[in-house]
Amino acid sequence: MSHDPDCIFCKIVAGKIPSRKVYEDDELLGFHDIAPWAPVHFLLIPKQHIASLYDTTPEQHAGLLGKMLSLAPKLALEQGVVNGFRTFVNTGEDGRQEVPHLHLHVIGGPRPWAKG
Ligand code: 5GP
Ligand code: ZN
Repeated sequence: MSHDPDCIFCKIVAGKIPSRKVYEDDELLGFHDIAPWAPVHFLLIPKQHIASLYDTTPEQHAGLLGKMLSLAPKLALEQGVVNGFRTFVNTGEDGRQEVPHLHLHVIGGPRPWAKG
């Protein structure tokens, strides 16, 4: 499994940077965002270093990406979301991706939210 020693999310996967986990299995990790936009805001990431959606293909990553998205409702419910949530993936500079390790944002809870 590929890791980037300089990547902040790879360091979270390795336990070198602490996080508040919401989910973990062999290939995925879910943890609360450090700067939440809403009462619930967590990120789901692959444990392997994939820099962005640009680095995925249907042939190689459909299963992984499908699992990430389809886990979101179950995990959102577990975090107390009952009235809907947003899911998004920022990609590249114009997509305002700040951390170059693929991540799915899951954001919910009662409004108003700080952003989004
Ligand atoms: P992006 O803009 O790349 O889609 O989102 C990156 C997200 O990662 C931001 O919402 C930011 O708050 C979050 N983040 C950045 N560094 C850390 C960290 O060290 N720990 C956690 N839990 N979240 C982080
Ligand atoms: Zn990484």
